[in-house]
Amino acid sequence: MTTLVADLKFELLIDAETIKNRVDEIATHLNTEYAGKNPLFVGVLNGCFVFMADLVRQMQMPCEVSFTKVASYHGGLTTTWQLRNDLDLAVNIEGRDVVLLEDITDTGNTLTYLIADLKQRKPASIIVCALLSKPAAQLHHIPELKYVGFEIENKFVVGYGLDYKEMGRNLNGIYQLLD
Ligand code: 5GP
Ligand code: MG
Repeated sequence: MTTLVADLKFELLIDAETIKNRVDEIATHLNTEYAGKNPLFVGVLNGCFVFMADLVRQMQMPCEVSFTKVASYHGGLTTTWQLRNDLDLAVNIEGRDVVLLEDITDTGNTLTYLIADLKQRKPASIIVCALLSKPAAQLHHIPELKYVGFEIENKFVVGYGLDYKEMGRNLNGIYQLLD
């Protein structure tokens, strides 16, 4: 199945049912890992919003939700090396069990930057769940990256929260750029 997003053509890579099954699996792990705790889920905007909504609605422990925003892509297809903190966390995370939720990790620059920033605020623990990862693009090892939904090829993807030129976030599945 192909779809046009802005001026580019994409093909279906991961359908909605496959995503749902994988998100359910991650949710099961988190429900076990954080049973009896009160984790704080921190979403990295904008791309996290669909994944985060699906994941946190399956959490069975008392939990809180907050957001941060770091820009590394500025509407194009390739990463710029500059990171900008667009929105700071509105809560104190000292002593908290933080679960950082990211749509995709590519080079790992964004997560490396964010984790270093969050650690300075002295959380009790911090792990990362990323829906997608591109191992071939990875430049930084991220020990905190505990759950990855899917490892994908080093190709640009949209859908399920991820955009191309701010479009395509509403797609139910993950779509990959056609060569
Ligand atoms: P990194 O800092 O790991 O290189 O890139 C992470 C950020 O780049 C992600 O949070 C995401 O916003 C963006 N990104 C990386 N790969 C893709 C992709 O294939 N599609 C989209 N839409 N965004 C991507
Ligand atoms: Mg992102």
